[in-house]
Amino acid sequence: MSMPDNARILSLIERLGNLVRAEGRASGAGLEPVHRDILGYLSICNRYSDTPAGVTEYLGATKGTTSQSIGVLERKGYIKKSPDKEDGRVVHLSLTPKGRKLSYAGAVPDGFAGALSDLNPGESETLARLLSDLLAGVQRRTGGRTFGVCRTCRFFRENSLPGSHQCGLTLEPLSDGDSIKICREHETAA
Ligand code: SF4
Repeated sequence: MSMPDNARILSLIERLGNLVRAEGRASGAGLEPVHRDILGYLSICNRYSDTPAGVTEYLGATKGTTSQSIGVLERKGYIKKSPDKEDGRVVHLSLTPKGRKLSYAGAVPDGFAGALSDLNPGESETLARLLSDLLAGVQRRTGGRTFGVCRTCRFFRENSLPGSHQCGLTLEPLSDGDSIKICREHETAA
């Protein structure tokens, strides 16, 4: 692919991102785009990834900025913190009912949702696959984590425990629900 094509793709992705963020901000309960990104992340990440460190890595932000955003969301009642059952130094973040309402599906701005619905199902699927391949490629090349879906991880062991799947890294059971969440420890299967 030629350089002008690359520049055009980058410009289109940036313009889309800016438009979606501006629309989200206009309809957004006084929250900044980064706050909505955190709520969206917490709605789809698994139990190994719902920590301040997981959020920081996912956003590619600094620890201080992320910690301020988490504080705002906690004060506004969108998320709550709870200590890890085995390691009291680790804190897990979860959405409150108010936070869940604003997260993920509810956070797709109307203009963007409408434009997507003009695509046919095959086009949407291809677009989602290409964008996720592009994202994984950039993350690989910049040393970032892939945050892929558990089911596609090289450690995922389907049905390997009685009544459940298993994580080959932690050896803990994984439910069907866990298997479609994203994980900070994810490594793409060869
Ligand atoms: S199998 Fe991979 S993605 Fe799933 S929980 Fe384990 S490390 Fe995370």
